[in-house]
Amino acid sequence: EAVFTTRNLTKIYLTGDVEVRALNGVDSELYGGELAVLLGPSGSGKSTFLNIVGGLDRPTSGQVTFRDQDLATLSDGKLTLYRRNHVGFVFQFYNLIPSLTAWENVALVTEVADNPMPPEEALAMVDMEKRMTHFPAQLSGGEQQRVAIARAIAKRPEVLLCDEPTGALDSKTGVIVLEALTRINRELGTTTAIITHNAAIRNIAHRVISFIDGKIAEVQVNDQRIEPS
Ligand code: ADP
Ligand code: ADP
Repeated sequence: EAVFTTRNLTKIYLTGDVEVRALNGVDSELYGGELAVLLGPSGSGKSTFLNIVGGLDRPTSGQVTFRDQDLATLSDGKLTLYRRNHVGFVFQFYNLIPSLTAWENVALVTEVADNPMPPEEALAMVDMEKRMTHFPAQLSGGEQQRVAIARAIAKRPEVLLCDEPTGALDSKTGVIVLEALTRINRELGTTTAIITHNAAIRNIAHRVISFIDGKIAEVQVNDQRIEPS
């Protein structure tokens, strides 16, 4: 079942009088429970797509529906509620609050969520239960990203959208972060979309969606998927 559907999704950015067509008529589905990977060259529209699906940005034209609800027609307030209740975001940079511990960074989100898990449970999902009282500066990049992932999942979002979560990490650390995302997808059933250049992910994704020039050029279903242990 499709959680997200886009039809003729188009995003045009205006800088001065120059038009950039970041998305040029994208038809797509993201299915419930799947782990989808978005690939493509820099500037091909991946981040724009993820931001619109996540309600951080609005399309210029076309449709984007979340469970039959057209996000393009929601008021700003409703779009904020949609983001807050249904979507978890992970970015390249972790955006943790430096003066708060790992536990406190996660608790900041769970305090305002409708149906959160305890911060320690979210941190355990990413193997960070032993670092709960550490401050961000006391953690490695990979550990900070795992705290950021715990923060994103602690509100039990239906979808987890990750924009280059391994972009600032070396490849070995990147694999550990991708494994954490895979475990979350499997154990919580969270629909997950990941923008990444990390080749390791191809083996664990259900589908690989390739963007070129603001369009989806190819969708590969991964029959050879390796179910990680
Ligand atoms: P990707 O994530 O694949 O690198 P993006 O979605 O970030 O691609 O960008 C797609 C195109 O839209 C690029 O040409 C980029 O420069 C342009 N773009 C993205 N965001 C903005 C913005 N806020 N203002 C103007 N142009 C933008
Ligand atoms: P609200 O303030 O209503 O939660 P925001 O747009 O500020 O709406 O954030 C929505 C969600 O997206 C939050 O979980 C927030 O942490 C996350 N988010 C948005 N933009 C960023 C960003 N640039 N870096 C990190 N997290 C972000």
